[in-house]
Amino acid sequence: MTNVINGRKIAKQLNQETKTRVDKLKKEKGIIPGIAVILVGDNPASVIYTRNKQRTAEKLGMKSILKKFPKDVSQAEVLQAIHHYNNDPTIHAILIQLPLPKHLNQTELIEAIAPEKDVDGFNSKNVGKLYNNEDGHYPVSCTSRGIMTLLHSYLDKIEGKNVTIIGRSILVSRPLQSLLINENATVTMVSLHTDNIDYYTKHADILVVAAGKPNLIKKDQVKAGATVIDVGINRMANHHLVGDVDFDDVKEVAENITPVPGGVGPMTIATLMQQTVDLAEWNK
Ligand code: NAD
Repeated sequence: MTNVINGRKIAKQLNQETKTRVDKLKKEKGIIPGIAVILVGDNPASVIYTRNKQRTAEKLGMKSILKKFPKDVSQAEVLQAIHHYNNDPTIHAILIQLPLPKHLNQTELIEAIAPEKDVDGFNSKNVGKLYNNEDGHYPVSCTSRGIMTLLHSYLDKIEGKNVTIIGRSILVSRPLQSLLINENATVTMVSLHTDNIDYYTKHADILVVAAGKPNLIKKDQVKAGATVIDVGINRMANHHLVGDVDFDDVKEVAENITPVPGGVGPMTIATLMQQTVDLAEWNK
């Protein structure tokens, strides 16, 4: 029997836990966790994502600021906003909605976020701590941490598993690679530059697909009994969202599989909320 991994349900449970933590922080310390989201331009997907983030934060009782800039904003203006929130004690988490217009230097902006407010975990200081498997508190990529939460909900252990990740992005795949290695999985990453991708996918106990190619993966590429995590979000001409995995085909062989929508997506936002409260607690 195939389990369809219910990301919405797990995200809801996580949000309930986060709400309890928010209420406790308010009651015991008088702290309201605050998040500032910076949105540049009017990319329709980014507008929807930032709105959902803001609504969820408000629902959980947090302070939420959406700072909007026109698409031709200068680097200096965005930097100024980041410096402002770095120095605002009511803001514990700062997020820059990606992708940014090409004229902006994304790396410089991410590096300008104070590491202790870098809720997406993309600042090189936090990336380095994750890579080195350092002890202590630091934020990591919300999508990658959300995937780990899903895996822990459906699998007894990650240790010893063969994992193949399709894609090698710095936003999802590389932080996920570190999180998995830190839990003693054996991780292989493949990309467009890899010959014979099927060899790696067929050996995977856990297959994570983050390629951004609709219905790329079919059942004959997947090991029987595998856990398949589909990160892809692809909007088709008919406006339907589909993942990178051919869900109906692959669910015939997978033991656990995420749907799109309703799999990884809700976990990204729930983890963002979880990590905002983490930052408020760690830096109080
Ligand atoms: P990306 O788009 O930056 O890069 C894609 C990677 O996949 C590259 O490394 C490329 O080499 C590899 N790739 C592409 N086609 C391939 C193929 N045919 N075979 C092997 N490798 C291939 O990666 P990203 O930013 O991680 O985004 C990937 C997908 O995940 C996108 O659809 C994006 O929208 C989605 N995404 C979803 C969430 C979420 O919350 N669910 C979060 C972030 C990204």
